[in-house]
Amino acid sequence: MRFVAFALLLMAGWGCSALPTRPLSLPGRYTLVREPLVVYSDFPIESHHRLLDELVARRSDIRRVLDLPYSDERVHVYLFESTDRFNRFMRLYHPQMPARRAFFLETETRLLIYAQWGDRVAEDLRHEATHAYLHAVVPNLPLWLDEGLAEYFEVPRGYGGLNRENLEAVLAHIERGEWNPDLRGLEQLAPTDDMTHDEYAEAWAWVHFLLHGGAGGDTLVRDYLADLRGDAAVEPLSHRLARIVASPEEALNGHLRQLAALTTLPTTCPTGQPPRR
Ligand SMILES: [Zn+2]
Repeated sequence: MRFVAFALLLMAGWGCSALPTRPLSLPGRYTLVREPLVVYSDFPIESHHRLLDELVARRSDIRRVLDLPYSDERVHVYLFESTDRFNRFMRLYHPQMPARRAFFLETETRLLIYAQWGDRVAEDLRHEATHAYLHAVVPNLPLWLDEGLAEYFEVPRGYGGLNRENLEAVLAHIERGEWNPDLRGLEQLAPTDDMTHDEYAEAWAWVHFLLHGGAGGDTLVRDYLADLRGDAAVEPLSHRLARIVASPEEALNGHLRQLAALTTLPTTCPTGQPPRR
């Protein structure tokens, strides 16, 4: 989930001084710097916690896979120790937001992540950190591609972006005859739209196909991101894809069938927490 705030800078990004007394203030008793991350919490975290190691390494993965330039812009990560405190903070300072486990916030000057320490914190932080790393170097990233890449990079390193939860959702739609991928439709989403679960799954599917489908989609994505960095008005990715793949939807479906054949499903999904999306 990303939330781009221009007018809505709020007090949240500006430290605790403007906020009420705890427990509704931001976490901040401990500060840990693991460049480019600055992690604030009210509980101690080992400086070489493997999750932080992975988040730092993920920046290099994203740069390498997407051929993006280096950025040393800091990403400020606020880790709430409980769901209850996170939810109360969100209701007070971001009441317009639906229930989330975590979210990314871009202001005019800072990249911020709010997350709760729980069973899915690793996945959530990989997802939100992907948004932060992308926004540090790519302006005007379309919503579907931003979320599709975040879903791709939220899985642990070494998984090749295989998001089993999304694959399972897509395959279920295919089985029911309800799968109608529409990249041009995803491209019509406004930056402030709230994507559905199915749209997240489809965005992931397109990204995985582009990066692994073997049709030159990986180069296409890299070129598209490079163009976005140079000009806000670029040709949509779907138009470019149509030039190199005769029937993108059929090719996508073939890729998904191949993935399904190679993958053991279903995955297990922890329950009892609100969705991140
Ligand atoms: Zn997201």
